[in-house]
Amino acid sequence: MGRWKGLLWSLAGASAAIVAGSFAKRKYEETVLEIGHQFRTGQIVARGGGYQCERCGYVLALAANKKLPPCPKCSHSRYLKIS
Ligand SMILES: [Zn+2]
Repeated sequence: MGRWKGLLWSLAGASAAIVAGSFAKRKYEETVLEIGHQFRTGQIVARGGGYQCERCGYVLALAANKKLPPCPKCSHSRYLKIS
């Protein structure tokens, strides 16, 4: 019985660590990489990466410190950072 209890606790600990790890990773992506943040045409982006047009889904690969142009495909002005 005691052995099983210990196993259960270590399983619980392991899954808690996994959850905490993925949460920390998501937090890192959100705050440092700005993934999921919204950007507008004319904004200078601090970080390079993939910016996806909210309207047509076009993915623009932009380098750091560049100005976001209007969407090359549909000239929309709002993007979501995806990578
Ligand atoms: Zn577009």
